[in-house]
Amino acid sequence: MPESQPFFEPAAELAALCPDLREVLRKPARTTATHLLIRRDDGRLESFPAWRCQYSDVRGPTKGGIRFHPSVSGEEVETLAFLMTVKTALLDLPFGGAKGGVAVDPGALSGRELEKLARAYVRSFQHVIGAERDVPAPDVNTNGPVVAWMADELKALDGSARTAAITGKPLALGGSEGRSDATGRGAFAVLECLRERLDLFEPGARVAIHGFGNAGRHLAQRLHQAGYRLVGLSDSSGTAVDPDGLDPDEAGAYKRDNGGLAGFAGRAEDDDLATLDCEVLVPAALGGWIDETRARRLRARVVLEVANAAATEAADPVLAERGVTVIPDVLANAGGVAVSHLEWVQNRTGQQWSREAVVEALEERLRAACGRTAERAEEAGATLRTAAYALALERIAETFEVMGRQRVCNE
Ligand code: NAD
Repeated sequence: MPESQPFFEPAAELAALCPDLREVLRKPARTTATHLLIRRDDGRLESFPAWRCQYSDVRGPTKGGIRFHPSVSGEEVETLAFLMTVKTALLDLPFGGAKGGVAVDPGALSGRELEKLARAYVRSFQHVIGAERDVPAPDVNTNGPVVAWMADELKALDGSARTAAITGKPLALGGSEGRSDATGRGAFAVLECLRERLDLFEPGARVAIHGFGNAGRHLAQRLHQAGYRLVGLSDSSGTAVDPDGLDPDEAGAYKRDNGGLAGFAGRAEDDDLATLDCEVLVPAALGGWIDETRARRLRARVVLEVANAAATEAADPVLAERGVTVIPDVLANAGGVAVSHLEWVQNRTGQQWSREAVVEALEERLRAACGRTAERAEEAGATLRTAAYALALERIAETFEVMGRQRVCNE
C-alpha cells in the first residue's frame, strides 16, 4: 500500500495488479523540495517550504495544481499527486499525476508579497515544468491572479510563450472558456449521471455543501437551477441553514459583502453540517473533513466528495457499512482537470473553443468515466471508489505493458 494512499490496496486487488507494479506505484517518481525566499514588505527576508511532486509520468506529462496553505506538507503533496495520477487515468487523459504546494498562509501576505511568492515558485521549479513535462494549475488559494503571475514568470524566464506549460490561466493569457466553473459543473454532471444509473434519490433532493468556495459555489448554482433544495451551506466563517432551501446567488452576495456566510441564515447544530437532515452531503473545503465520528453521525445517503481526500481512511469503511454511497473525489472533482486538458489542447493547436464546445466535451468525458465506474462497481460488487481506482490502475498497467522499457510483471 502506498504510504500516502490508503485506498490503493483493494483497488490493486480488483485490478489484479502484479506485485512489481504495486511496488512501482507505491512511491512517487520524483518529489522536489525547496524553500522559497521572498523579501516581505517590512524588509525582512522570509523563507517558505515548497514542493512539487511528479508521481507518475507513464501516461503522459504530469498534471496537477499548486496549493498555498499553512498545512501543506511534502506528504500531503505526494498523496494529492497520487490522486491526480488516478484521476487522469480514470478520465483517460494523456497525462500522469503531479501536485505542488507551499506552506504559507496567503491571507497573511500583501498582494505584492503573494506575487513574489508565486513568481519564486515558478523560478524554483522551472526545470521540471513544461507542456510536455509537467503542467501545473490552480488549487486551493491559487486562483486567477496567482496563475497569471506564474504564467508571466515562466514566459519571462526564457522569452518563449510556454502557454501550454500551465493551465487555469485567465482568458486574456490563453485560458479556456469554462475553466472557472468546471469543477462545480463536473460534480453536478457526475451526481446526475449516478443518480440516474444507481437510482440514488428522487430529483429535487436536499443537499448540504461544506465549503462555499469556488467549487462549492458553482455546484450550488447548478443544483439550485436543477431544482435541488440547498438546505445547508458553510464556509470557514460558519454555517447557514434553512430547511426550505437557500438561494446560492443571495448567499454569494452576502458572503461578498460580509466576508463570510456567518449570519446569512439559521445555524446548524454545533455549526456542523454533517448531521443535517439531507439526502446529499458535499464536502467541498479541505481534505479529511469526514472522519470516523462524522461518518457515524451523518444522515445523508450520498456523499459527493468534491474536496480531495474528504473522507479519511477510517471513515471510508464506516460509510460503506452504513450503506452511504460515496462518489469519490477522483470522479466527483475531475471536471477541473478535464477542462485543464482542453486548455492544454487549445494552447498547443492555437485554437480558442467556444464555451458550449468546452462544456459539451467536459460533460461527455465525465459521463463516460461515470458509466464505466458504475458498471465496474456493479460487476465486482465494489464501492465506486475501489472501482474508479481499479479502472485507473488497469489503464496504467496497460501502458507499462506496451511500453516494454521497464520490465515490470515479467517474471
Ligand atoms: P476555495 O478556497 O475556493 O474554497 C474553499 C472553501 O472552503 C472556502 O469557502 C472556505 O471558506 C471553506 N472552508 C475552509 N475551511 C473550512 C472549514 N473548516 N469549514 C467550512 N468551510 C471551510 O477552494 P476550491 O477551489 O473551491 O477547492 C475546494 C476543494 O475542492 C479543495 O479540496 C480542492 O482540492 C478541491 N478541488 C477544487 C478544484 C477546483 O477547480 N476549484 C478542482 C479539484 C478539486
